[in-house]
Amino acid sequence: MRVTVVGLGPGAGRDLTGRAREALERADLIVGYTAYIALIREEFPEKEMLSTGMRREVDRCRAAVEAAVSGRDVAMVCSGDSGIYGMAGLIYEVAQEYPPIEIEVVPGITAACGGAAVLGAPLTHDFAVVSLSDLLTPWDKIALRLECAAKGDFVLCLYNPASHSRPDHLKRACDILMAAGKSPDTICGYVQNIGREGERGTITTLGALRDTQVDMFTTVFIGSSQTKLLGGKMVTPRGYLQREG
Ligand code: SAH
Repeated sequence: MRVTVVGLGPGAGRDLTGRAREALERADLIVGYTAYIALIREEFPEKEMLSTGMRREVDRCRAAVEAAVSGRDVAMVCSGDSGIYGMAGLIYEVAQEYPPIEIEVVPGITAACGGAAVLGAPLTHDFAVVSLSDLLTPWDKIALRLECAAKGDFVLCLYNPASHSRPDHLKRACDILMAAGKSPDTICGYVQNIGREGERGTITTLGALRDTQVDMFTTVFIGSSQTKLLGGKMVTPRGYLQREG
């Protein structure tokens, strides 16, 4: 009868919104990637849960939609926000192949927001979000988007900065940004395990970030030309004080 696509926030727990919690309480089946199911299993011990492995996104969405068609109230969980590199779009696409069901999207705190709060206030002005994963997007397109964001002097937030199969993507991205005119001294930061055990934020420069190895549980922030270090935090001024000055 219904699929609710629920964003759990970066680490579920305290970052789960009231609306997300209601949707999980209401559901009679929770479907998701194994690691995300693990985040909520303790809190909802009575619920029936169905987990599938990485890269099984289409199977997972089909299972959720088929369960809804058979009359169940299904919650499909995603980390962070359900529509930002999440399953919301795919649920709508897959549902086209089945008899009509109700679909609801419940937003969550995305890694960009969670990580920004750890580093300080890097996203207070215009920013662009780019995923460095070329599993579904050709690298040329990713490179062009990075170049355009650099030329527009956006703050950049990078998702999927690395994985086992592509350990050097962040290095390549930093090279593209510097070739497009960003200074190697640009203030940057990265946050591992946002909202989870082992959360750790690091502030650095673009030149040093180029030679840093990060993992897939990391979100990377690259400052604009205005971003600065204030009391050890990464801050992009909106311009209020400058206007008064
Ligand atoms: N829907 C998710 C994004 C999924 S894409 C969201 O809105 O946050 C997966 C990427 O998101 C990871 O490679 C990482 O870059 C980022 N990410 C998601 N959760 C994270 C966390 N808890 N800590 C750090 N980065 C995270």
